[in-house]
Amino acid sequence: MNAQIKTELLGMNMQELEEYMASMGEPRFRSRQIHKWIYQKEVNSFYDMSDLPRELRQKLDEKAQISIPRVLKQRVSVDGTRKFLMELEDKKRIETVLIPQSKDKNTRYTLCVSTQVGCPIGCAFCATGVSGFQRNLKYYEIVGEYLGAKRELEKKVKAEDNALIANVVYMGMGEPMLNYEDVIKSIRILNDSIGINLGQRHITISTSGDIGGINKLTREDLQVTLAISLHACNDETRNDLIPLNRKYPISELMEAINNYILETNRRVTFEYIMLDNINVSRADADDMIKLIKPVLANVNLIPYNEVEGLIYKKPSDKTIMQFYNWLVNGGLNVTIREEKGSDIEAACGQLRAKRER
Ligand code: SF4
Repeated sequence: MNAQIKTELLGMNMQELEEYMASMGEPRFRSRQIHKWIYQKEVNSFYDMSDLPRELRQKLDEKAQISIPRVLKQRVSVDGTRKFLMELEDKKRIETVLIPQSKDKNTRYTLCVSTQVGCPIGCAFCATGVSGFQRNLKYYEIVGEYLGAKRELEKKVKAEDNALIANVVYMGMGEPMLNYEDVIKSIRILNDSIGINLGQRHITISTSGDIGGINKLTREDLQVTLAISLHACNDETRNDLIPLNRKYPISELMEAINNYILETNRRVTFEYIMLDNINVSRADADDMIKLIKPVLANVNLIPYNEVEGLIYKKPSDKTIMQFYNWLVNGGLNVTIREEKGSDIEAACGQLRAKRER
């Protein structure tokens, strides 16, 4: 006999939950209770929903599920960054990273979520890209990363605080724009004021340069931040680092970004991983100044986090500062991002969801 396919409640908004509960012949207030258990208490077992009648809990358990991913393993960096290895319903694994915003014990966190299992872009410097692509995440799985990470964090810091995770960045495994519909749907759920209630301005979508996705986001009427993984300002180097650049060269990418800024009046962020002897010369700085100075943008410089088996190296501190100064003197708005979690392979480009070691 085939197992009954259960209805997924994770990712449903209040109205959808009301419709579902009505279809079971249950009153409307039951959906409010369940909504709270899911989005404010991160509970995924109906048996733990103590204000529901016993028979209803059993009925729900037979017919429905709440698939918050299971945390298989958690590693904590010396700087407080936490990396979670999470398992999805089909046993596929992803990584999700929580980054403290300061050393303060009451600090808030930024959550870096994955949007795909693996990644089809195949950036040359990235552990995820090297390990290939398996599938897109569903919108509720992305929301589940948030709830699963928050639940773990609350166990450690002993606080039930909806603002504990203050920012969510779509910068983990995968290219968000290639899973556009589910990414946007997950943002709307994170933003839902009667649920998780994370402000749109606290959400960043990062892309390696998928123009189709940028154009869609331009029309989306969302207040999220767009981040572009630039990493090189000439096509030759960028083709080597990010294969997608062959499809969408820098001139076309900049056209889409300029259109985005014109239409939304929002500042974009350029992410730039610094690779020794690859993209940190004086000529690279000049190319970047020429490209970005006319644009409403911030530049984040990210000294590379070395990945086992890859040839790329982090530049020396002197080279990093020299490059930074060239850009600042050239009139760009630049910060060097202090990398967190590199000792537990949780930093940018290091995620690969290895099996438990
Ligand atoms: S850097 Fe991002 S887009 Fe490139 S392969 Fe890695 S996960 Fe994919």
